[in-house]
Amino acid sequence: MHIANRVPVANSLLAALPRKDYQHLIDDLEQVVLTYGEVLYEPGVRMKYVYFPNNSVVSPLTLVDQHQPLGVGLVGREGMVGIPLALEIRISPVRALVQGSGTAMRMKATPFLKELRQSQALQRELHRYTYTLMVQITQTATCHRFHDVEARLARWLLMTQDRTQASPFRLTQEFLSHLLGVLRPAVNRAARKLQQNKLISYSHGNITILDRKGLQAAACSCYEIVNDMRDDA
Ligand SMILES: [Zn+2]
Repeated sequence: MHIANRVPVANSLLAALPRKDYQHLIDDLEQVVLTYGEVLYEPGVRMKYVYFPNNSVVSPLTLVDQHQPLGVGLVGREGMVGIPLALEIRISPVRALVQGSGTAMRMKATPFLKELRQSQALQRELHRYTYTLMVQITQTATCHRFHDVEARLARWLLMTQDRTQASPFRLTQEFLSHLLGVLRPAVNRAARKLQQNKLISYSHGNITILDRKGLQAAACSCYEIVNDMRDDA
């Protein structure tokens, strides 16, 4: 991670704040570059910062017993990484892993809590976002249980591109196996199927969505359900 130079703020949660509330935050915000594979938090460890992604994407992962990590959500420009801090909880319950390289606005935990107590607009935006994240995580629990790997992969690729708005974007099979909670051969089969149907191209961990409408049709209903609830929030 390093401090970036003058990248425009694209985070929609920050952008939704009234100017005076945003001005208050500016001195405590710094732009950083988050790199694919970087770990921002580990479970049980104190969170030093919150992050407002611009074009980066971060995935919360749960770790249980000896199982491989499992992706339970995705946070990008629509939200904030470190929601427990908005509830005054300083210890992370999950691993937060950077799934898409890009920039984010970072703030230290203590000034964040101070600003949060003073800004009703920031509280309102974070309440709204916390609700949509709850919806996303709840839906993902159902998704992991009931939907097949190909449909879940399609959903995850759409969610990733919505946030990075990059093409191609990077996602290795190893990474996808963690996000989807299946072994690599299953990821490979699902990706091959999407490729055969000319929905994506996948080469050396770089994914290009070729047919977005087709990929939406191949994705499970969870993609639309979460998007609709986010629009209603
Ligand atoms: Zn699903």
